[in-house]
Amino acid sequence: MKLLMVGAGLSGAVIGRMLAKAGHTVTVVDTRDHVAGNCHTERDAETGVNLHVYGPHIFHTDDEEVWNYVNDFMTFLPFKNRVKTTSQGQVFSLPINLHTINQYYGKTMRPEEARAFIEQIADRSIEDPQTFEEQALRFVGPDLYEAFFKGYTIKQWGCSPTELPASILKRLPVRFNYDDNYFFHKFQGMPENGYTEMVAKILDHENITVHLNTSFSREQAADFDHVFYSGPLDGYFGYDLGRLGYRTLDFEKFTAEGDYQGTAVMNYGDVDVPYTRITEHKHFSPWESHENTVCYKEFSRACEPEDIPYYPIRMVDEKKMLADYVALAEKTESVTFVGRLGTYRYLDMDVTIREALDTGRAFLEHAAAGTSMPAFVKSPL
Ligand SMILES: Cc1cc2nc3c(=O)[nH]c(=O)nc-3n(C[C@H](O)[C@H](O)[C@H](O)COP(=O)(O)OP(=O)(O)OC[C@H]3O[C@@H](n4cnc5c(N)ncnc54)[C@H](O)[C@@H]3O)c2cc1C
Repeated sequence: MKLLMVGAGLSGAVIGRMLAKAGHTVTVVDTRDHVAGNCHTERDAETGVNLHVYGPHIFHTDDEEVWNYVNDFMTFLPFKNRVKTTSQGQVFSLPINLHTINQYYGKTMRPEEARAFIEQIADRSIEDPQTFEEQALRFVGPDLYEAFFKGYTIKQWGCSPTELPASILKRLPVRFNYDDNYFFHKFQGMPENGYTEMVAKILDHENITVHLNTSFSREQAADFDHVFYSGPLDGYFGYDLGRLGYRTLDFEKFTAEGDYQGTAVMNYGDVDVPYTRITEHKHFSPWESHENTVCYKEFSRACEPEDIPYYPIRMVDEKKMLADYVALAEKTESVTFVGRLGTYRYLDMDVTIREALDTGRAFLEHAAAGTSMPAFVKSPL
C-alpha cells in the first residue's frame, strides 16, 4: 500500500519504519527542515555542544522492547537526571527528598523521623482534595508547598494552583531517602550522537521517502491508501471547532565560558523570577568535553496560533472541545491520528514509541484481516 506519515517525529518514524519493513511504500512529510520532531538535537556551531533545540529530552523507560528498539539504532550512554532548584535564596535537590527536607528545616532527620515530621506538618484537615493546592498542602504542608510547588506551577501553567485539578499531583511527591534520581525507570540514558541522528537512522529504509519543509494538506490524502497523522488534531480540521489549548515555551539562549551552573537542570521556584528553569546542554552529554557552554532560559506562556504547541492544557473546556474533535476524527476514513499532537496528550518518548509500535502492528493486523484501521489506536479521551 501507499502510506503517508504526517510528521517525521518519533511517531511518524517508528510507524513508518515498521510498515516499510513489511513491504509498504512510505512517504513522510514534515513542515520543519529536520527530522525528529520535538526531540531534535543539533550541534551548536559556536561551541560544539549538542543542543536539545525544543527543550531537554531524557530517555527513561521500564519498557524493555522500547529500550531495545532505540538501542538498535543508537548507543545510549548512562545519564541520570538530577534536578536542582533555586528557591528562597538557596539551592535544593529535587524531587523533594531527605536532603531537601533536612536542608530546608535545618535538621538531621533519619527517614522515619522525616516521615513523622511531614505527617505532622501536612494539612490533614483536607479530607478530599479537589485542587492542586489542596493536594500539595495535604501531602507536604504550607512551607514546602510555597518553596517547591506554588511559584513553579503558577509560572508553568499561567494560573493559580487553586484552579488546577488535584489529579496533577497524584502521588506523595516526597522521598524519605537521599535518592535524587528524578525518574524511577529501570532504563535511563541519552543517545550518544543525539536524537536526530537516531530518528534519521529509523527513517533510513529503501521503502521510505522523506520530504522536509513540506506541509500536509488534506487533499494529499487522496493519493494514499492510509494516512498516519501526528500533527495537531484540531489543525487537521482547520480549527473549525476552535483551538485546543496548549502552553508554549520561549527559550532564551546564551553562551558562557566554562561551566555556567554545574548541572543540567536548575529550576527556579520563586514566582518573581520570570523563567521556570535554566538548562545547560553540555551536561546532557557528560561524556563530551567543551570549553564553552550553552544554556537555555525557559519561559512558559499561553500558546498563540503561530507558536509551537508544547503542553496540552486539558482543562474542562478543552476536554469538551476534544470530545467534539474526536467525534469528527472517527468519521474520517483512512486516517489514524497518532502521537502527542494527534491525540492531544503529553507523551514521554518511550510511551510515544510504544504506541507507535502498537499502531504499526494494529495496521498490519487490519490489513491482513481486510478490516479498516480505526481513527485512534489510543483514545485521546
Ligand atoms: C519541553 C518538552 C520536554 C520533553 N522532555 C521529555 C523528556 O525529557 N523525556 C521524554 O521521554 N519525553 C519528553 N518530551 C516528550 C517528547 O517530546 C514527545 O514524546 C515526542 O516529541 C513525541 O513525538 P511525536 O512524533 O508524537 O511528536 P512531535 O515530536 O511533535 O512530531 C510531530 C511532527 O509533526 C510535524 N507536523 C505537524 N503538523 C504537520 C503538518 N500539517 N504537515 C507536516 N508536518 C507536520 C511537526 O513539525 C513535528 O516535527 C518532552 C516534551 C516537551 C514538550
